Amino acid sequence: MRFQDFLTQELGNPKISNGEYQYCCPFCGEQKYKFYVKDSLQSDNGLYHCKKCDATGNPITFMKDYYSISAKQAIDLLETKNITFDISPLDNYSNELSESDKLILHLRHKSHKNNTEDKKPPRLPEGFKYLKDNLQNKESYPFLYYLKNRGITLNQIIEHNIAYVTNGYFYKTNGEKAPLRNSVIFFTYGNNGNYKYWNTRSIDPNPYLKSINAPSTEQEYARKDCIFNFNNARKEKVMIITEGVFDALTFGKSGVATFGKQVTQSQLDQIIQYTHKGTIIYIMLDSDALTNNIKLARKLHEHFTTFVVPHGVEDANDMGKEKAVKVLKENRILATPENLQNYLLQQKLTFNA
Ligand SMILES: [Zn+2]
Repeated sequence: MRFQDFLTQELGNPKISNGEYQYCCPFCGEQKYKFYVKDSLQSDNGLYHCKKCDATGNPITFMKDYYSISAKQAIDLLETKNITFDISPLDNYSNELSESDKLILHLRHKSHKNNTEDKKPPRLPEGFKYLKDNLQNKESYPFLYYLKNRGITLNQIIEHNIAYVTNGYFYKTNGEKAPLRNSVIFFTYGNNGNYKYWNTRSIDPNPYLKSINAPSTEQEYARKDCIFNFNNARKEKVMIITEGVFDALTFGKSGVATFGKQVTQSQLDQIIQYTHKGTIIYIMLDSDALTNNIKLARKLHEHFTTFVVPHGVEDANDMGKEKAVKVLKENRILATPENLQNYLLQQKLTFNA
């Protein structure tokens, strides 16, 4: 998880502005959100500063001071909790870490970074059926109707192996079963075409859980490692990055979904590494995550022709295909540094007006 996700667990919900997360400082106990933490997509990942007591540092110093432990223990703890952090602050601990400690940590980090392809997919739920095998089965009608209503075509249902479950269950990471009812199931496939991840959407009007993302252990692919439909879209002339599966499907073969407002480092690495050169990328993510999208656009534009697509509160699936494509064409901004700078400025002015 990101360092700020850990902080949110520990310190409560932050206020977020301009890519900085503000918490109440755990060191001096002030209650006015004076503890500023830099966003994790920036190079200065997780740097913090309290404007009251002047506490300053990085994820390692935070763990060290918050739990009163050594630098080495702090790093171990960050890794145990699977919190991503920048390796560079390690150099500040030359006195406290032995050379072999540093070497081990560097190697460990390297393998962390490269081993996502060795992971296994999370366990599939039990009791689901593929819609394509049950088109004549009355049981499937409510699911087909639901998907049709959301603009999903029969071809997509077949190509993506979309499934349904009326009364099944899935496994939590501890092996316990949890019920899974009246839901559509989507599958994400790896670049080799093998199953990689699943997520669901309930078709009930007032479900207890609207959607479930496959729970995964450390040895399994997690949401952050997966991009819905990337195995197809990476070969298309155009790829459109959206948040959710329905948004991605709205754009047909070109749409991909990140399962969230932000693109993770693992997703970014995959996009850069496996998208065909010459593919044009559109970023159509939630405008709440503006600062992050700008950073993402900047990075992608170094490798691909990239556009950001500002849009209102409606996401692509709300708009429907026709309008979504229109918005894409009319609102797109080529992600050059100058354009992004102007765009950010404009957004700030609009916001403050
Ligand atoms: Zn403080």
